[in-house]
Amino acid sequence: MDDDEDFVLDNEAEEIKRLQLPEEEKKPIDPEEADERIARIEFNCSGCEMHEMVHYFGRKPPFALGVEYPEDNYVMRDPFQPPPPRWQTQPEYYITLGTKCSTCSKSVCKDPGCSFYYTASFCLPCGKEELKNWPVEAQARIRKQLSASQGKKN
Ligand SMILES: [Zn+2]
Ligand SMILES: [Zn+2]
Repeated sequence: MDDDEDFVLDNEAEEIKRLQLPEEEKKPIDPEEADERIARIEFNCSGCEMHEMVHYFGRKPPFALGVEYPEDNYVMRDPFQPPPPRWQTQPEYYITLGTKCSTCSKSVCKDPGCSFYYTASFCLPCGKEELKNWPVEAQARIRKQLSASQGKKN
């Protein structure tokens, strides 16, 4: 009788060991890889109609090797280019869609009608406010941009 009970307990312990061990090997690789290709971050430009789902927001997109932006950017993998093979350490094609205005933090795309870059990115409305603090050269550039974007909208 005692022997029987021991046998059952031993078996149970074996069973638990068996379930715990191969964790690492069981991990499927493919679904994870597919998963990271799904764009989950929403990008809405505050200046135009652009609305996209992107893969990354930040300074160092993991799929653009060696790239480091001076500010946070919305980045997506280029949907028209095949991804590089996993085993090659080469950067993937990617598109930088936009960033956040350094003053009001609204998202803006890279279109000259939506954002302006001088030491940091600004949406055009903030740029209009800020330009008086900028050197003449930067003022001239944004004025040109502002009048061009106004011409486009009218
Ligand atoms: Zn825009
Ligand atoms: Zn702004």
